[in-house]
Amino acid sequence: MAPESTGGNSMLKSLRGIVQEVVTARDLPETLAIIVRRVREEMDTQVCSVYILDPKTDRYVFMATEGLNKTLEGSFSLARDEGLVGYVARREEPLNLEDAASHPKFKFIEGSGEELFRSFLGVPILHHREVLGVLVVQQRERRRFDEDEEAFLVTMSAQLAALIAHAGLVGSYSALRRGTGPRSGEFHGIAGAPGIGIGQVVIVSPPADLKAVPQRACEDPEAEVALFQAAVAQVQEEIAATRQELSGRVRPEELALFDAYSMLLGDHGLSGEVIERIREGNWAQGALSQVVLAHVRTFDLMDDPYIRERGADIRDLGRRVLAQLQAGARETTTYPPMCILIGEEIPAAVMADVPRGSLAGIVSVSGSGNSHVAILARAMGVPTVMGAVDLPFTALEREEVVVDGHEGRVLVNPPAELMAQFREMVVAERIEEQEIAASAHLPGVMQDGHPVSLLVNTGLNSEWVRSLGRGAEGVGLFRTEIPFLIRERFPTEEEQRLIYREQLEAFAPRPVTMRTLDIGGDKALPYFPIEEENPFLGWRGIRVTLDHPEIFLAQVRAMLKASAGLGNLRVMLPMISNVSEFDEARALLVRAYSEVLEEGWAVRMPPVGVMVEVPAAVYQAGVLARRADFLSVGTNDLTQYLLAVDRNNARVANLYHAFHPAVLHALMDVVDAAHRAGKPASVCGELAGDPGAALLLVGMGYDSLSMSAPNLARVKSVLRRFTRGQAAELVRKVSRLDDARDVRAAIEDRLRQEGVALRPGR
Ligand code: PEP
Ligand code: MG
Repeated sequence: MAPESTGGNSMLKSLRGIVQEVVTARDLPETLAIIVRRVREEMDTQVCSVYILDPKTDRYVFMATEGLNKTLEGSFSLARDEGLVGYVARREEPLNLEDAASHPKFKFIEGSGEELFRSFLGVPILHHREVLGVLVVQQRERRRFDEDEEAFLVTMSAQLAALIAHAGLVGSYSALRRGTGPRSGEFHGIAGAPGIGIGQVVIVSPPADLKAVPQRACEDPEAEVALFQAAVAQVQEEIAATRQELSGRVRPEELALFDAYSMLLGDHGLSGEVIERIREGNWAQGALSQVVLAHVRTFDLMDDPYIRERGADIRDLGRRVLAQLQAGARETTTYPPMCILIGEEIPAAVMADVPRGSLAGIVSVSGSGNSHVAILARAMGVPTVMGAVDLPFTALEREEVVVDGHEGRVLVNPPAELMAQFREMVVAERIEEQEIAASAHLPGVMQDGHPVSLLVNTGLNSEWVRSLGRGAEGVGLFRTEIPFLIRERFPTEEEQRLIYREQLEAFAPRPVTMRTLDIGGDKALPYFPIEEENPFLGWRGIRVTLDHPEIFLAQVRAMLKASAGLGNLRVMLPMISNVSEFDEARALLVRAYSEVLEEGWAVRMPPVGVMVEVPAAVYQAGVLARRADFLSVGTNDLTQYLLAVDRNNARVANLYHAFHPAVLHALMDVVDAAHRAGKPASVCGELAGDPGAALLLVGMGYDSLSMSAPNLARVKSVLRRFTRGQAAELVRKVSRLDDARDVRAAIEDRLRQEGVALRPGR
């Protein structure tokens, strides 16, 4: 082996080359075949093989090889602790031997041809802390592989792990589509909103996104070809117009690029291939996306940066044609009676578009359990799975799926018996909900008579609110950004006034706490894009509205006017990290108030509260409480900022613990600081909707809790079983624990002692 071939830049280059090639594979066998061929080549060794764990048999299957007997591929396997492979897997460490046969764990495999090879280097393939398999290289010569070689194989294996995991899932799914595999596919994500949803898939694809185009059959290929040709002609015209505009202004070589684009689109280029696929039965958008993406992948494999750039041109042309096709189709989506929305992301506007009662479930490929989509889904009571990164969703249109929002999994066309079980679970859940809802009218009072004010979080239209908000003593958080998110422009002051009025009237005389616009982070307005490297640490919440006082003033004026004659408005400011932000926002509010009075509206100055969502506000809770009328803790953000865990990132979702001792101590400090200043404190993050957490928060002294409406009745029924003293005792107990898991276990134990049945998931 040439040592410099794996050192420094060239090692990186080989790695990239292999990864790029692997990305083009259609399924697991092809992925593994590429890996063994390329690794053997790059390491210039005689054998490369890969063993993959089959979870059903719990054995490492010899899946692919270059150098050993290929006829054994897939046909023999090793038990978990068998042979050198089992040994590598168990120790989760590389094993580098100059003479494999003399190792006590060595097991000779009959007929493999292995006897020719002396040295052995095996490295585990680890994905999310689990061993997926083992990658092995062997050579004739009796010598240890050197450090560079070992480093190369370890790096290779780390890079390939995710691709292998993904290929495993997609592979099993494509087998399903071909009818050659079991008629079921199960994909895992993160629990987003509890419940079981069964229905037909509707794919949510953002405009001109080639990767999100659903694959569909077409009924009339010739009509589809005509649509495609018209779209191409339109793009050709645009290219010609740009060329015309630029001629004389740029050099002729640059103009030639436009001719190249035109040719690329022509019948001898992309168009010919796309039309061929349409005639094979795919619809135009699907055929286009397949052809363009395949070309882009090929170009990405090229070493030459100039040629790789041409891949970007093709992608761009493809997007333009797709945009034309989509503009022409402009179909209004028809939603099946039980609909499951699946997409890379699910915008709030799409959720709102599905007729009420038809939305059976949601699956988002990106995001995590505390993304706003998940919170919205919980508010609507729609079972949801987030972060389903391995789901080949574009192939699922109109398929029947089960969304298991308790466990965070999606089942595609499950077998009949399993489906029947899920249907039973849906019925059982409905009955349970009705039982709990029947006690919704009971007062939120604990065993010893201690009252707890239980409020709802809202943001959807009042129809939902009225039906779901029964039993609430008001609104603890109205996320005003939601009406902004589902529009195509900023709502006017008058439009806002009407929305707020509806909300205030629906609950009057009970209080409604309206949060001023909280955009940024994972909430982008389509008409006010904020593009940042680190959106959660960037321009969000109060930072945006203080920079745009016109938006803030219009909003609070609308709130004030909406409260005329009702007097139940409270205003709350998000993302406060400096007292000056509070002071400035309050000054604007006072200004709006005097303007509204001058206009002749009979309104009262509402109480103004601060949301405690960042660690800085925890440490300044006392100062903030003295200035404000109330504090409300947003535990969703506070948890992400205290633990440095992006609430939207599925990869670190296992580290997002609202029961982390650091979060609990912060919560205790905030309520104490508020009370010392003589002000009330509430919690309006998702934590408040967890029955065990609610008990803990009451024990800490929180005066009110605000939660998604579906959680309200359950939280109330749990709090009604305990006394305030018992809750405080639980706080004393868990505040001595060091680990989030122990905290959760202690709380659950306490609930069980009192006979509370716990549900999986949230
Ligand atoms: C929070 O951060 O806890 C909160 C209630 O606000 P949001 O989830 O809308 O960011
Ligand atoms: Mg927040």
